Amino acid sequence: MNPRDLSLPEWALSERARKLTSSAIREILKITERPDVISFAGGLPSPATFPNERIAQAAQRLLTADPNGALQYSATEGYMPLREWVAERYSTGGVEIRPSQVLITTGSQQALDLLGKTLIDAGSKVLVETPTYLGALQSFSLYAPTYVQVPTDHAGLIPEGLTPELTRDARLLYAQPNFQNPTGRRLPLERREQLAALAREGAFPVIEDDPYGALDYRGTPLPTLLSFAPEHIVHLGTFSKVLAPGLRLGYLIAPENLHFKLVQAKQATDLHTPSFTQRIAYDVIKDGFLDEHIPSIRTLYREQCDAMHDALAKHMPEGVTWNRPEGGMFLWVDLPERVDSMELLEASIAEGVAFVPGAPFYANEARMNTLRLSFVTVPPAKIDEGIARLAALIRARI
Ligand code: PMP
Repeated sequence: MNPRDLSLPEWALSERARKLTSSAIREILKITERPDVISFAGGLPSPATFPNERIAQAAQRLLTADPNGALQYSATEGYMPLREWVAERYSTGGVEIRPSQVLITTGSQQALDLLGKTLIDAGSKVLVETPTYLGALQSFSLYAPTYVQVPTDHAGLIPEGLTPELTRDARLLYAQPNFQNPTGRRLPLERREQLAALAREGAFPVIEDDPYGALDYRGTPLPTLLSFAPEHIVHLGTFSKVLAPGLRLGYLIAPENLHFKLVQAKQATDLHTPSFTQRIAYDVIKDGFLDEHIPSIRTLYREQCDAMHDALAKHMPEGVTWNRPEGGMFLWVDLPERVDSMELLEASIAEGVAFVPGAPFYANEARMNTLRLSFVTVPPAKIDEGIARLAALIRARI
C-alpha cells in the first residue's frame, strides 16, 4: 500500500516526526542496488570478510550448550564477558577502563542516538567536523541541536579553530579521529593531544566515534582520545567493520556518571542489545580471533584502496584532487568549483556508476563540488571501469 495514500486517516504527528525527511540521496541511491550499477556509494564492508563459518558454529554451540542464556532477556548494560573483553582491550598504555564504563549497543548508530537523547536539548550547541558522518547528523538532528562546524584541513579537525567563542556552552564535540567517514582523514598525534587537553580543561565533552581505527593499513595505530582523557571522552566502537554489520553490535565507553544515564536511555529504547548476537560475537572473539582476522581485512582493503588510487590517477582530468587514506573505507574527492556533485550523480547513475555527493555530510554550509568514494565493495577491475566512466563525465563538465 502506498504510505501516502490519501484515503488513510490523518495521524497527528509529533513536531519531531513532522521535521523528519527522507534523505534525497538515500532515495537516489536505492537505484544503485541494481546489480548492473558499479557503486562506490554504500559504506558496505566487503562480504568476503564476514566469518560466516565461525558465526554458524558459535550459534550452534550456544543453542546446544545454553539456549536459555542465548534466547532469554538479559541486562541492559550488556553481556558481562563481552563488556569485560571491551574493557580489557582498551586498558592499554597505563589507562584502566572498567567494565562498568562499557555499554553494549545495537550498533554504534544506537550509541549516537542515546547520546543525542541524554545530552542534546532543542537549540543546544553541538560541534561537528566539516564535513562529518551523515548518520550522526541524522541521529542528533532528532533532538534539534544548533550545529557549529569546526574548521578542518587535509589532516582533519584543527584544534586552534576551537576558540572559546566557538565552543562556549557546547554540549559536545563529535569527532572521528581515525579514517573519518566521509573523508578518510586521520587526525595526527599532536592534534589528538591538543584536543584531549581541551576536553580535560572542561572546554567541552568529546564523542570519539571510532569504527575504522582497526582498519589501519600499516598497522601503526595512533592513541585514542579516550586514552588521553578517559573522564572527558565517550568512545564509540563497533563490530560492524571487523565481524559483520548485520549483527548490529557496537559499544560505548563512558565515565560512570554519564554511563548510568545512557543505560536508562537504552532501557527505555530497546531494553537491551540481543542476547544471542552478543554471545555469538563473544564466542567468536574470546580466544583472539580478531587478531588474526583484522590483518586480512586490512590487506584486502589496502589493495582495494590502491586500485582506486591508481584508477583515479589514470583517468581523472586535471583540477580533480583526492586523498590517499592510510586506512578505513573511504576517500574524498574535490572537483573543480563549477562542478556540482549532485547534478553529476544523476548523470553518473544513468551511466551505471554511483557515489555519494559531499553536500549531505555538511551540517551547515556545504561544498557542492565534493564527493565520497567507497573502495571496499567493488572488485579492482570494476573500480577501474567505474572511475573511467566517472572521469569522462567530469571532463565533460570542466
Ligand atoms: N559511525 C560512523 C562514522 C560510521 O561510518 C558508521 C557506519 N556507517 C556508524 C557510526 C554506524 O555503525 P554501526 O551502527 O554499524 O556500528
